[in-house]
Amino acid sequence: MTRTVGRFAPSPTGPLHAGSLVAALASWLDARARGGQWLIRMEDVDTPRCLAGMGEFILQQLSLCGLSSDGPVVWQSQRTAIYQQALDSLIASGQAYPCACSRKDIEAAQSHERLRHGELIYPGTCRAGLQDKPGRAWRLRTDKFIRNKPLGSTSQAIQAPYLIANKSLLWTDRRLGQQQQDVELEVGDFVLKRADACFAYQLAVVVDDAAQGITDVVRGEDLADNTARQIWLQQCLGLPSPRTLHTPLVLGPNCEKLSKQNGAAPLNTQNPQAALSAAAHTLGLHAQSTPISEALNAWTQEWRTLWP
Ligand SMILES: [Zn+2]
Repeated sequence: MTRTVGRFAPSPTGPLHAGSLVAALASWLDARARGGQWLIRMEDVDTPRCLAGMGEFILQQLSLCGLSSDGPVVWQSQRTAIYQQALDSLIASGQAYPCACSRKDIEAAQSHERLRHGELIYPGTCRAGLQDKPGRAWRLRTDKFIRNKPLGSTSQAIQAPYLIANKSLLWTDRRLGQQQQDVELEVGDFVLKRADACFAYQLAVVVDDAAQGITDVVRGEDLADNTARQIWLQQCLGLPSPRTLHTPLVLGPNCEKLSKQNGAAPLNTQNPQAALSAAAHTLGLHAQSTPISEALNAWTQEWRTLWP
């Protein structure tokens, strides 16, 4: 049996808040409950939005809550050569292609209103070539599938728990149950490297999850919708797909999910016990009034019965 390796991957665009602590605690408990490892990865790949010193601040917030990485913290900003290597292999096999479209071009090419979470569905305009226009971004084909040679050495066997039926991906999330998405129809060929030369979140996550040997992704439900794209990319790169468990979101007073964008208050690390208790409550765990380390142990036991 493969040893469980979990991870928490915050982006240093703002301090941790009550919502992000839920995902951190859940992934930590899941790894601990299974006798595995828990790693922290700093998702600072979207460099224009990252704030100087914020990564270190987040690590400090986590550590005050008793959560620290079992291995070196990985910083995505130091891994661009590895992401480029993955992109190059997809270009070489014909799975990735350059796109010259601006947002306006993509809007103009919509045959009907196909907005999805405020995002335009890319209609595949540049699949057939750029016709002398300069390429801006790189996209992944979702209409055809070529399996590349696995990147580097992957010690894990490539599992296939995710079925491709009529071009739809089917998979089972540990909390949300059976999920399905037709990536081509519902998302379109998605960006791997942006016009500003930053690597897209999807590519960086998939490459890093494989490099760190992640077996279980536990993260907030707002990220659940990325799963199909990541499975597609894992399949294309010959990489294993981790299991997923998407945790409930913390809602603010206006019933919107707490996020850095809508100004969620930073975690109060003066009282880490209260912060952790609130996160545990969101996860359906019982209140603990003991010191942090004992509370974490009790929740680990409880997690084992909730999510075997
Ligand atoms: Zn295009």
